[in-house]
Amino acid sequence: MKKIILTGDRPTGNLHLGHYVGSLKNRVKLQEEGNYDEMYVFIADIQALTDNFKNPKKVRDNILEVVIDYLSVGLDPSKVTIFIQSMVPELCELTMYYMNLVTLSRLERNPTVKSEIKQKEFGNSIPVGFLNYPISQTADITAFNANIIPVGDDQLPMIEQAREIVRSFNSIYGETLVEPEAMIPDSKVCRRLPGTDGKAKMSKSLGNCIYLKDDSDTVKKKVMSMYTDPNHLKVEDPGNTKDNPVFIYLEALATDEHFKKYLNEYKNLNELKAHYEKGGLGDVKVKRFLYDVIEDILTPIREKRKYYEDNIKLVYDILKEGSIKAEKEAANTLKNVKRAMSIDYFN
Ligand code: ATP
Ligand code: MG
Repeated sequence: MKKIILTGDRPTGNLHLGHYVGSLKNRVKLQEEGNYDEMYVFIADIQALTDNFKNPKKVRDNILEVVIDYLSVGLDPSKVTIFIQSMVPELCELTMYYMNLVTLSRLERNPTVKSEIKQKEFGNSIPVGFLNYPISQTADITAFNANIIPVGDDQLPMIEQAREIVRSFNSIYGETLVEPEAMIPDSKVCRRLPGTDGKAKMSKSLGNCIYLKDDSDTVKKKVMSMYTDPNHLKVEDPGNTKDNPVFIYLEALATDEHFKKYLNEYKNLNELKAHYEKGGLGDVKVKRFLYDVIEDILTPIREKRKYYEDNIKLVYDILKEGSIKAEKEAANTLKNVKRAMSIDYFN
């Protein structure tokens, strides 16, 4: 079977460290290994509009921001097709057909959608488009016959929903669609990186992010004011490293090389953790180290960003070319879907 990788991001803001450890790093690794037939990465503007429909400018502006983030972390348009969701209208048509295969109560049971509805304070006024986005996501995945989806763990219910739709479609209309599988990071802390405020998820909508494009001063300010263990008041106090986002970030990002380079009195994170847990290690020292680690990762990303910011036409060309290629592929799947459903009247 062909190996087809697909992922997307909502253009609701710049990409952050959660995206980096949860999904972007995996994408670049897969790209470099080259062991796949096709790889698609797309900007989910239709999905972003489901909860930002009153703010189209925000969505429009962030399309460019997100693509530049992609290119800055190393996604290479000669190896990966990068496209804009709304430039592939076949996705909307597929969504329409898949909607028949899902009940309202099934959509309402989706745990990620449920918590997002609460977070966005929709109350009883949930836009139909928002509730429907997992179906639209199934269209995105199946249009390209994608079977490997590198995501953070908040996306697992979406992949499950997609698998159900594929099975239902194939059993009613005959074997047509490919069942996708989620690929989540090996390391548990990377599957859902918490926010700088200690909240369960770093998320553009929650304003608790360190963005890939943040400059050094901003990163320093954010790191130095991060939530840590509230009971670790004095340096001598024993500290908790488990629910402490500073240590969680170090677990997600710091390598033994970083210790050698910036904090060589400790060999690795285990030693640093042991000292903090015993007492005698202050938050400021740990935060300074975290800042150095983040800077080490972000400096080359910022440099690349600068190049693309100065070459915006090139970025648009990449998007245009990718969108044309993606539309061809989606049109082919749509043709197969319509044939399977016996709605190909004039053929
Ligand atoms: P929004 O708040 O608008 O939903 P977001 O920050 O959740 O934005 P998305 O564009 O929804 O970002 O997510 C894109 C991808 O990044 C998904 O695969 C998601 O699982 C992953 N991701 C997002 N936030 C995190 C995080 N904190 N940790 C790990 N992965 C994440
Ligand atoms: Mg999200």
